[in-house]
Amino acid sequence: MQELHEYSKCYDLVVIGGGINGIGIANDAAGRGLSVFVCEKDDLASHTSSASSKLIHGGLRYLEHKEFRLVREALAEREVLLNKAPHIIRPLRFIMPHRPHLRPAWLIRTGLFFYDHLGKREKLAGSNLVTFDGLDSPLHPDIQRGFEYSDCAVDDARLVVLNAIQAREHGAKIMTQTQCISAVQIEGLWHVTLENEHGVFQVKAKVLVNAAGPWVAQFIRKNLNLKSPYGIRLIQGSHIIVPKLYEGEKAFILQNDDQRIVFTIPYLQRFTLIGTTDWEYTGDPNHVEISAEERAYLLDVCNDHFKQQLTEADIVSTFSGVRPLCDDESDNPSAVTRDYTLALSAESTAHAPLLSVFGGKLTTYRKLAEATMDQLKPFFNSMKKEWTATALLPGAEHFNSIDELKDQIQQQIKGIGEATAERWAHAYGTRTMHFLQHSNSIHELGQDFGHGLFAQEVDYLVDQEWAITSEDILKRRSKLYLDFNQDEIQILEMYLHVLHERRLRQNVA
Ligand SMILES: Cc1cc2nc3c(=O)[nH]c(=O)nc-3n(C[C@H](O)[C@H](O)[C@H](O)COP(=O)(O)OP(=O)(O)OC[C@H]3O[C@@H](n4cnc5c(N)ncnc54)[C@H](O)[C@@H]3O)c2cc1C
Repeated sequence: MQELHEYSKCYDLVVIGGGINGIGIANDAAGRGLSVFVCEKDDLASHTSSASSKLIHGGLRYLEHKEFRLVREALAEREVLLNKAPHIIRPLRFIMPHRPHLRPAWLIRTGLFFYDHLGKREKLAGSNLVTFDGLDSPLHPDIQRGFEYSDCAVDDARLVVLNAIQAREHGAKIMTQTQCISAVQIEGLWHVTLENEHGVFQVKAKVLVNAAGPWVAQFIRKNLNLKSPYGIRLIQGSHIIVPKLYEGEKAFILQNDDQRIVFTIPYLQRFTLIGTTDWEYTGDPNHVEISAEERAYLLDVCNDHFKQQLTEADIVSTFSGVRPLCDDESDNPSAVTRDYTLALSAESTAHAPLLSVFGGKLTTYRKLAEATMDQLKPFFNSMKKEWTATALLPGAEHFNSIDELKDQIQQQIKGIGEATAERWAHAYGTRTMHFLQHSNSIHELGQDFGHGLFAQEVDYLVDQEWAITSEDILKRRSKLYLDFNQDEIQILEMYLHVLHERRLRQNVA
């Protein structure tokens, strides 16, 4: 047993989980003046929060399940988030081919009417009818009509990281690769035991926030030794990535015979992202993988709609995650509520409160965090009021447009390719200049790992964005994993190893 170190500091909040919900809550709380500690057992956004369809959306199909509260809140959040982070979020038009035997046109028109009017909308265009010209259309010739409406696309993992950076700037302490192994209440405080590569240590907190996503109920039972107030349904969703399936910037929402829908979304210039599935999951949430049936299902839905026929050989990459949904005992995985439930347990003022997050969407993370703070207000008299609705996320400061920023980057760094400048503009917004400020040409960016990744960016990700492994960098901070081969990954790993050793020596000195 390693020595148990105890940090003398007592935090207002200790948050378990570095997904969008944990980090969103930490950021909101830190900005209100609370002292916050977050532990994440792996990397930020390494589970559900990087395995989403990457949409900031109202959820048209949730209207069918009468989730009006959720849809209204989510619709309104689209423009709030678009304004907060215009570099990582973009408006996206969706085309829904009409297949009369599945849903009648009047039903879809009614749904779209609500979709256009339920939430505040200033920037996003409303819905309209579309017709498809047989020759130019990527769809089968028998699909001649459809509908079009707006939602937004987001870089999900970066949404988490940007919130984490902002939380840190408000004083939050965030530790990745640090697992909470237990927490007990002693004299009105939580004593939280954590473990990472440096050993086992303890922090204290007035309030414990359990945002462990797929592990939320298990954490209450096993790590806290308490009874979970709600059950959790783990619903697996998988995506496949194929070379660009059609020209243009629009997404399609395809209705399938089983009443489910599948999105095809233009992805990273060269690809189309196709998903998702909705399958009950009973395995270990640490290791979720796409099944052969899911691959076949997604290919079939596309082939039913598009002229270009896809086969297994077209699949470039896949990813899967599990939605941690609050169990409403629905028979159908697609119908389980996507809304969130916050469970606050504080038996008396002498007891330290535990707040657990069940369910939720990427889209509603900010509202979920506000709702959490509302529930915690009685425990923190001097807590400041809500602030996140209008606060820009890091990189959105002084941001006008991707094109303008891209030009600025290309003017500063002589010889930098357009694709790299554009990637930086999207990922870091105006904070790109944080790692470029002392450089004027491509030769000053340090080791070149290929595909527009240079040492200067890697160092920034390690120093400022909690990146440790090549996967953190290639899969979540950038999406360069689709370009890198094994040899190139190995070179990056060697560099990271040396950097890690150097940082350790500097810390010791
Ligand atoms: C296939 C799919 C598609 C989706 N598409 C969309 C979409 O397009 N739009 C949208 O709005 N939403 C979407 N969602 C929903 C959204 O992704 C999730 O609601 C959200 O990411 C959940 O975030 P979370 O923080 O609760 O969970 P997670 O991201 O899983 O974070 C929980 C974290 O807690 C950590 N943790 C657990 N136990 C411990 C412990 N003991 N100690 C330390 N850390 C711990 C885990 O490692 C994990 O990183 C989708 C979900 C899926 C699965």
